[in-house]
Amino acid sequence: MTLTGNWTYPTAIRFGAGRLKELPETCAEAGMARPLLVTDRGLADLPITAAALDILEAAGLGRGLFAEVDPNPNERNLAAGVEAFRAGGHDGVIAFGGGSGLDLGKMVAFMSGQTRPVWDFEDIGDWWTRADAEAIAPIVAVPTTAGTGSEVGRASVITNSETHEKKIIFHPRVLPRVVLCDPELTVGMPRAITAGTGLDAFAHCVEAFSSPHYHPMSQGIALEGMRLVKEYLPRAYADGTDLEARAHMMSAAMMGSTAFQKGLGAIHALSHPIGAVFNAHHGTTNAVCMPAVLAFNAEAIRERFDSAAAYLGIEGGFEGFQAFVQDLNDRMGIPRTLAELGATPERIDELAEMAIQDPSCGGNPVALTVEDLRTLFHRCM
Ligand SMILES: [Zn+2]
Repeated sequence: MTLTGNWTYPTAIRFGAGRLKELPETCAEAGMARPLLVTDRGLADLPITAAALDILEAAGLGRGLFAEVDPNPNERNLAAGVEAFRAGGHDGVIAFGGGSGLDLGKMVAFMSGQTRPVWDFEDIGDWWTRADAEAIAPIVAVPTTAGTGSEVGRASVITNSETHEKKIIFHPRVLPRVVLCDPELTVGMPRAITAGTGLDAFAHCVEAFSSPHYHPMSQGIALEGMRLVKEYLPRAYADGTDLEARAHMMSAAMMGSTAFQKGLGAIHALSHPIGAVFNAHHGTTNAVCMPAVLAFNAEAIRERFDSAAAYLGIEGGFEGFQAFVQDLNDRMGIPRTLAELGATPERIDELAEMAIQDPSCGGNPVALTVEDLRTLFHRCM
């Protein structure tokens, strides 16, 4: 089977190894002639970024680059990006990278034509309707990791640099117009990032699958996403150049993100404040938190994970699935505690107060209290 395709769900997707060379056609399809490529500092110096800029320049699209993007992008990165967009006379954004480059790139396109501050568009009620939808510049997304799935998401996570809170900024038109998925871009990902990002995709699938809301489409996507991670993440981890594994992980990442329209849960509610306060890697903190959250949610999710385990070829139903999760973490070199990632228990009260405010709580199959979150933080540390 050739792992390539042109899909239109959940947006236009050009999928296949070696397809980065189609970047100029992809920009044309999205309606841009003078794109600004937005990525993070670390990625800016890598050969894949130079390759993308070379392809653009050769096609007469310039080589506009903005890379002043922190690992947890904040409103100052965003303001600088919007300024670069306007100063360069750009007409669209290529959001290039892992979560940071994708999320900030999407926000630069979104904010390039708005007059209100970004916090006015937080994902609360219908705040997104405050935005001038016509002023949103087109977005092409080019993922270089396989985890966040932000390339098919309608939101970005922006950290408030003053309060350290992670805010979700949502607008339907933040969904990239075209996604270019080239698994070759992910072969150079270091092992720890392969593990962390891959387990983020897995957490999206697990939490979407656990969420009590009615959304059978998401449920099916989450289940198959879990299977792809189970089969192919260990292979991508063992051999980064395994293109078949890299391709399936790229799909799994998009599937996780598509599925979590159904909801996330306690794993992400715990993980977001840990990331914001201790700057720990998002996917890695999710992986550390997953065993404790599965145990906490056990009675509400046992039945559906009995079925999932059967589909995934895991013996022992829900308990078998739990054992599989711990074993997968161990094989991927994930620590067993948040303390090993630098988190300290004296801040648990503060973390629990932040977690209860996190919109992810709403998708947890068991209603969460501050006390529950405190207990979960203790167990994860
Ligand atoms: Zn996540």
